[in-house]
Amino acid sequence: MSSNKEEFEPAQCPCGRIISHPSEYKLLFLKKEQNEIDILCPNDTCYLRELGYITFRIDDDGNVKVEKISFYPPFVTWNVGRMGREKATKVLKAHLRWIVKKGVDWEKIKEDYMKRSREREEEEIAVTEEEITE
Ligand SMILES: [Zn+2]
Repeated sequence: MSSNKEEFEPAQCPCGRIISHPSEYKLLFLKKEQNEIDILCPNDTCYLRELGYITFRIDDDGNVKVEKISFYPPFVTWNVGRMGREKATKVLKAHLRWIVKKGVDWEKIKEDYMKRSREREEEEIAVTEEEITE
């Protein structure tokens, strides 16, 4: 028996895919300017695809603050229909907590954010220099 692997109650996507462990969700960081990570169904041919999202900010000291992590209504409603509201809330919240704590590579996201913020600064400096030589 492994003590590292937490046991989770499964959730189900309306496409039929059972998600027995939160590590099965796909996390996609495309909306970089909005600091938003998409939570996707593991089924590549899923008609819903996006099951939820995470929004975050990075403060001046470089600490990541999660602002919101949430599943979208179609996924929630489906699971509430199968398990009842009380159980679905418990199961889905446990999945979300795992995603925030262990699913997201926050170090990588922080690095990426810092890199983009440096690039923005460089752009601003270039404009200033141009104005000086005018
Ligand atoms: Zn699906």
